[in-house]
Amino acid sequence: MPLRGGPSGPVECQDVVELATDLLEGDLDGATVVRVDDHLLSCAGCAEYVDQMRRTADALHALGRPEHAEPLGTDLRHRLMDAYRRYGPRG
Ligand SMILES: [Zn+2]
Repeated sequence: MPLRGGPSGPVECQDVVELATDLLEGDLDGATVVRVDDHLLSCAGCAEYVDQMRRTADALHALGRPEHAEPLGTDLRHRLMDAYRRYGPRG
């Protein structure tokens, strides 16, 4: 998708919104990624927007491909072990 400002124009917030999906899916060329990243560094609103998009995409991927889901976190594992000790066969 060509940027509104042309190949060397500034990346605007609207461009980031339009490019966010391609960015997260790795569909952008390196030069465009760099320019979008530059914008994110100077624009908290877009950085937060892309961050939320990334979290949503990660959650969807985890749901759709459970074999790639994160392993149990240490905290959760400890709580499970604690529950097992408390309620397990050894009383
Ligand atoms: Zn912005």
